[in-house]
Amino acid sequence: MTEHFDVAIIGAGMAGASLAAECAPHARVLLVEAEDAPGYHTTGRSAAFWEEAYGGPGVLPLTEASGRFLREGGFLSPRGALNIGREEDRTKVEAFVERFAPLGVTVELLEGAALAARVPGLSPAWCVAAWEPDCADIDVAGLHQHYLAVAARIGSVLRVRARIEHIEREGEAWRIAWRDGEARAGRVVNAAGAWADTVASLAGAAPLGIRPLRRTVVQLRTEPVPPADLPLTLGINEDFYFKPQGGRLWLSPHDETPDVARDAAAEELDVAIAIDRMNHVVDWKVEAVERRWAGLRSFAPDRLPIYGFDPAVDGFFWFAGQGGFGIQTAPAAARLGAQLLLGLGSDALTARIDPAAYAPSRFTAAA
Ligand SMILES: Cc1cc2nc3c(=O)[nH]c(=O)nc-3n(C[C@H](O)[C@H](O)[C@H](O)COP(=O)(O)OP(=O)(O)OC[C@H]3O[C@@H](n4cnc5c(N)ncnc54)[C@H](O)[C@@H]3O)c2cc1C
Repeated sequence: MTEHFDVAIIGAGMAGASLAAECAPHARVLLVEAEDAPGYHTTGRSAAFWEEAYGGPGVLPLTEASGRFLREGGFLSPRGALNIGREEDRTKVEAFVERFAPLGVTVELLEGAALAARVPGLSPAWCVAAWEPDCADIDVAGLHQHYLAVAARIGSVLRVRARIEHIEREGEAWRIAWRDGEARAGRVVNAAGAWADTVASLAGAAPLGIRPLRRTVVQLRTEPVPPADLPLTLGINEDFYFKPQGGRLWLSPHDETPDVARDAAAEELDVAIAIDRMNHVVDWKVEAVERRWAGLRSFAPDRLPIYGFDPAVDGFFWFAGQGGFGIQTAPAAARLGAQLLLGLGSDALTARIDPAAYAPSRFTAAA
């Protein structure tokens, strides 16, 4: 017998799971995931930080609002971030401070001994930084599990190994079907990450140009062992970042290689580039590359997320384009998404967020 739901959410990464939890008190929700387990793709591959400026001013209201939720829920632990540069980058570092401080981000210029003390072994060439003390590590798995558990407790249904292959309108409802099952729902949500445009096409909605960009991370064993309180250290020119993780170093070349929706893997060249860049920043010896992975960060053409009903296809809701900030923005994004999807009013979490900035209609309106 075909089950009926108010809402069917396609994709159970951070986006789909968090939205399911926010919708569950108000609606009967189905969450469908193609893989064996939720979180297999981008959500399971993040660098797990909350950094206020990351994603730029357009993402900031979502990050800020989510920060309060994450802190109170115990999902954050202090880290701090340094956006570092050389003398020739000084103007850029200063511009970073001038851009974000007036927006309410706690950020200040750091240089000389104060900077060197935070990154032992830092090459003296890296002499100036924008210091964000509020940056934090996020317990990504904990947050994802929290949302899945909340959704399940309130009665949402999760189907895994259910790659949606058909989405069609049947009167007032949608019929969605996977290899060995189907369901009906009043509204369908596209939370399919790198597959968002593919899923839109299945429903007869025009793709919005969401592009998966590959990002690589390597886990290194180094000598010396990175101190536990080492800040997240990002190149001001966006060409590397690293942070400590359980006595190891997580390092990324900050790559954004255009890719296709798939199970992405790290490429040797990107691993080598990452290590080469790190070697110009600190004098640590790389003893082993213990792990390497890559994930797809999916961006809309303007690099802002997309939340809202498709302007042309009735009952089809976008919750996509979470780029490189889909974890740190998840709480506010999911609350906003549920409010837009179910016609609920805004609340303290979303009061300072303008949903128009993220509406899918911004693309069609501009066309
Ligand atoms: C290396 C790296 C570092 C990052 N670091 C950070 C960070 O520090 N902080 C931060 O906030 N963000 C970070 N991000 C970004 C963050 O991970 C993403 O924004 C977020 O995980 C996106 O979640 P999602 O649910 O949209 O996508 P996903 O986790 O990819 O979930 C989408 C799901 O949809 C499923 N799906 C697709 N098609 C179908 C279908 N037809 N039927 C059923 N299911 C389908 C997929 O199987 C997948 O599980 C990072 C990303 C990467 C790659």
